[in-house]
Amino acid sequence: MNILVINAGSSSLKYQLMDMDHETIIAKGICERIGIEGSNLQHRPTGKEQVRIEKPMSNHIQAMRMVLDALTDPTHGVITSMDEIGAVGHRVLHGGEKFAGSFIIDDDVMAVVRENIPLGPLHNPANIMGIEACREVMPATPMVAVFDTAFHQTMPPKAFMYALPQDYYKRLRVRKYGFHGTSHRYVSRRAAQFLGRQEQGLRIVTCHLGNGSSMAAVKDGKCIDTSMGLTPLEGMVMGTRSGDLDPAVVGFICEQDGIDVQEAMSILNKKSGLLGISGFSSDMRDLLNAIDEGNADARLALDMFCYRIRKYIGSYAAAMGGVDAVVFTAGIGENNAIIRELCVEGLEFMGIKINHEKNALRGGERDISADDATVRTLIIPTDEELVIARDTLELVENLPGKPA
Ligand code: AMP
Repeated sequence: MNILVINAGSSSLKYQLMDMDHETIIAKGICERIGIEGSNLQHRPTGKEQVRIEKPMSNHIQAMRMVLDALTDPTHGVITSMDEIGAVGHRVLHGGEKFAGSFIIDDDVMAVVRENIPLGPLHNPANIMGIEACREVMPATPMVAVFDTAFHQTMPPKAFMYALPQDYYKRLRVRKYGFHGTSHRYVSRRAAQFLGRQEQGLRIVTCHLGNGSSMAAVKDGKCIDTSMGLTPLEGMVMGTRSGDLDPAVVGFICEQDGIDVQEAMSILNKKSGLLGISGFSSDMRDLLNAIDEGNADARLALDMFCYRIRKYIGSYAAAMGGVDAVVFTAGIGENNAIIRELCVEGLEFMGIKINHEKNALRGGERDISADDATVRTLIIPTDEELVIARDTLELVENLPGKPA
């Protein structure tokens, strides 16, 4: 069966068509600047030339029509008709407390995704637009929602509660939810397979280090703690997000600078992190180049980034009563040997030690631990689209009346 994976943002729509008999990518691409001047679609069919189509797209429905046209085009298409798409899997940011797994999209599921808009005000409305666009242009195709928060729903209350008056939890559901769940789920399972171990009995710290970064403590295959919170702002130092800080900072800068909470939150979300500290970029590669030229602010940003990760590795080991494997993934985690080294520097006392040569080699899934390390340090490239496609296939195959 072919499965179309959709990740809709407010002005973008990423897609990937997968042949699930072989788990291969047939085509992928992105519609950008939806509803803005200069809309375009970049379509990358496997084994054919990439195309860029400039055409106005005033909404996600038009974008979805363009995607289907591109997929079925006689020249750069990869299928002959829409009927060759068996199901659609949608990435949805916030499932709140109701979704601990993936679900076939129906009106009840949509109602909960809408209910969670206050918790994911930027992403859930965009995800809804993506789902509605697909329902409009392919009404007979079953669809599945895969939530970024779902994997973290196994956290116990002592990990997910904030020490606020309980009323905020009971009335407004203020708690830690965590994000990047499909990535943490995928890499922790792959890590267990890579090590030839059952998930039961394994204690893994997963480090998803990209533009947005998060970590998780995964014990017996279940998430018991994660770094992101009510929103993706908590935790690591990220591209533009501050991560953890004293909440009193918000009140203080509001008072001192006469700004409102909204503006302060925008500073914490969009002007902080690597960008805020370096003063010039949120992109780790830019910072590394600047460090080579002696830029002290870029160096400070890098040190803060790695130091916080190191602290979290220690705290998650404590939370799990030890650690068997540390897994690095995503743009920074998969690609940068120096940063991986800085993140585990000084952790030899707990058995975490990297082999420099192995760490410097490029490649896919690999073990970069030193021979005398008692904790395995692994690199596992993440594949969120594959997780979404697998979940979608599994649910659709079990639909009553659907062919297996
Ligand atoms: P992601 O959000 O997973 O796509 O990751 C994006 C981040 O990965 C950006 O900050 C990039 O600068 C960073 N990145 C990609 N390749 C490298 C690399 N070789 N070294 C350091 N950072 C990298």
